[in-house]
Amino acid sequence: MSQSVFEQTDEKWEDPLDLIDEIEELKKEKDATILAHYYVDGEIQDVADFTGDSLKLARDATKVTTSTILFSGVHFMAETAKMLNPEKTVLIPDLLAGCSLAESCPADKLAAYQEQLRAEGRDFLTVAYINTSAAVKSLCDWIVTSGNAREIVDKLPADKEILFVPDQHLGRYLSEVTGREMILWPGACMVHEMFSLQDLLRAKKNNPESIVIAHPECPKNILDASDFIGGTEKMRRFIESKSEPTTFLVATEANMIHPLEKLGPQHKFIPVPGIMTSTGETCACNRCPHMARNTLQAVRDSLKKNQYEIEWQPFFDKAKDVVEKSLLN
Ligand code: SF4
Repeated sequence: MSQSVFEQTDEKWEDPLDLIDEIEELKKEKDATILAHYYVDGEIQDVADFTGDSLKLARDATKVTTSTILFSGVHFMAETAKMLNPEKTVLIPDLLAGCSLAESCPADKLAAYQEQLRAEGRDFLTVAYINTSAAVKSLCDWIVTSGNAREIVDKLPADKEILFVPDQHLGRYLSEVTGREMILWPGACMVHEMFSLQDLLRAKKNNPESIVIAHPECPKNILDASDFIGGTEKMRRFIESKSEPTTFLVATEANMIHPLEKLGPQHKFIPVPGIMTSTGETCACNRCPHMARNTLQAVRDSLKKNQYEIEWQPFFDKAKDVVEKSLLN
């Protein structure tokens, strides 16, 4: 979903239509494929060759035949693309496109905590949500996404404890649906944590026939007030199953509305607002500031200048094994 008519640069305004033409040309010239996450602006999703959530894009990265992958998303996703397709040049438009959830679990702190648990004699497996750095992935036994988490947790041996990192809300939800107790790392996504229950209930009151769909990264009070809980691909399948025009209140990153509108044009999608400002307006806190670093201009510049390349790191070897075992089988 585009928020502005023009892209702003430090020096001048640029017409998005010109930027899109330029990107199409650069894709051919640089032998590049663009992978775009559902949370980046709709106009970038429209110019991409593959769109999807973290799991789909990780799998799509293995299908790329061009020499370069431009990953329009956040850093850990570009790292995963590099791990799964090491001979490709993998570019990310902005190195500062991080993730508050991934950053809430630094590798050195996780290693120290695992050591502490082992010293206490605890027998555990570490399960990480895909929103973690490659360094953290290399310390884990399994990697899950919101799409496959339940399936993976269900097959873990019952005599092992589970340390789940970094998302406490997804971990709590998974613990509820699988019946497995978990040691939860206290991390959270800054976007999904900002949803206000009061605003959701007000939106429901104003749209009494609506269906609330929520991402499991949302806190428990939002999930409890929702009619459907699922990751992005599960949300898409749910929308596809509804043929009658329906109003959906969507509790996830606001750009997710764009692919949902394309999938079900007969429906109405209302993003669940975040916190009200002091002037009574809804703030834009349901947009991820890291994803928002992916502007058309940044994508164009990335292709043009071959920046910023994800370099292979020593811990990628171990992380790659865990990612492949978890996501590609
Ligand atoms: S929406 Fe949340 S989890 Fe997703 S990239 Fe942004 S900060 Fe990370």
